Amino acid sequence: MNSNPQWNGQFSCFDLVAKNGVFSTSVVTIGDVEIGGGQFVVMAGPCAVESERQLLETAEAVAAAGARILRGGAYKGRSSPYSFQGLGVEGLKLLRKAREHTGLAIITEIMSETDVGVVAEYADIMQVGTRSMENYALLEALGRCERPVLLKRGLTSTLAELMRSAQVIAMNGNPNIILCERGIRTFETATRNTLDIAAVPVLKTVSRLPVIVDPSHAAGVRCLVPILARAAAAVEADGLLVEVHRSPEQALSDGNQSLNFPEFRDMMEDLQPYLAIHQKARQPRPVLLRAGGAD
Ligand code: PEP
Ligand code: MN
Repeated sequence: MNSNPQWNGQFSCFDLVAKNGVFSTSVVTIGDVEIGGGQFVVMAGPCAVESERQLLETAEAVAAAGARILRGGAYKGRSSPYSFQGLGVEGLKLLRKAREHTGLAIITEIMSETDVGVVAEYADIMQVGTRSMENYALLEALGRCERPVLLKRGLTSTLAELMRSAQVIAMNGNPNIILCERGIRTFETATRNTLDIAAVPVLKTVSRLPVIVDPSHAAGVRCLVPILARAAAAVEADGLLVEVHRSPEQALSDGNQSLNFPEFRDMMEDLQPYLAIHQKARQPRPVLLRAGGAD
């Protein structure tokens, strides 16, 4: 049996999100899209909603290439106070328009517990950014809201801390949580963050929640994004969150790591063989030593 005895002790205390004998996997359903149910679900769109034209064109392009969910930040959590902070409610309205136009579900970031009501009116999935992973007031409010939550791993957070934050959301009543590995801060500076690819199989072993990868914020540069996306498919992530812009050079945020439309189309096509390899894998998957854990 391939396993690590420590995993039981570290993770099983988060009983509402950990894998155990009764609950092995949870599927988050948004309309006809199932995340964690065996489909590889791609969420794509601009880092920030900038204008109606930008968003609608992007929505059409990513839908045509096979994305199922449109991403776009209306409230932007930026490291610099001088960077573009997003269009706010205007951005949410444009996201709704894009959904009406294309049928794509919407994921957008929520930064403050005071905005949960308004964002939930427009969004299908509430995105918790890396800087908010331990904002417990926000997590508790999201626990009480009816929308699924995408919880990004904090820049310097361990997997146990990510699971702890997921537990806070679940304890407050919301079991519809998706985990997202988006790169962590290490001593390496050649990439914006370090994609912890092992986080995917570990989380999928110890947690019952779906796990997706954000290769854009991990890489910081566009040329690495399709390669990291393939890695995510190869380790059996449940999907991707990818930044796409009609002209990345003009993007108001994260242009360096955004794919243009043809690059996104190529990435989606090139992913197909990587999605097909799981049936052929002979190595056993990691499993928990004892269902229920050691604590
Ligand atoms: C984003 O998705 O645009 C974003 C701000 O991501 P993160 O919270 O991972 O930095
Ligand atoms: Mn971004």
